[in-house]
Amino acid sequence: MKPCNQCGKCCINYSDGGLSASKEEISWWEIFRPEISRYVANNKIWMDPDTGQQLTRCPWLTDLPENKYGCSIYHDRPDDCRYYPVEIAQMVKDECEMLELKDITDHKSAQHKLDQIMSDSRPPAGY
Ligand code: SF4
Ligand code: SF4
Repeated sequence: MKPCNQCGKCCINYSDGGLSASKEEISWWEIFRPEISRYVANNKIWMDPDTGQQLTRCPWLTDLPENKYGCSIYHDRPDDCRYYPVEIAQMVKDECEMLELKDITDHKSAQHKLDQIMSDSRPPAGY
């Protein structure tokens, strides 16, 4: 298991209607980060503030040199983003670049390593 290399696949894949935010997160944005809450409509993210329609790319995804990507609301991003990746099968499906060949053949060991890497961001997923 390698560290995240900021390939951006997860953000690109999930920001087209595949992300959600809790009522608490939305309320917090409304009070402290109104520029973020502009992109919430009917408790859904990320929505066009002008049309109310689902955006196809997250508005906070920034292009970095060498085909890398960053998050311009990194410290205030929703838990849905903060917790990713959760499970190995999900990473395989998403072609997450943290995976190494040995992770694909031994999901249990890979999950343990992933949970260690993610310990600052979320509780262990368990297996
Ligand atoms: S909010 Fe940040 S982490 Fe979440 S999809 Fe957008 S750019 Fe990615
Ligand atoms: S798909 Fe994996 S390697 Fe790529 S940005 Fe997301 S977590 Fe990082």
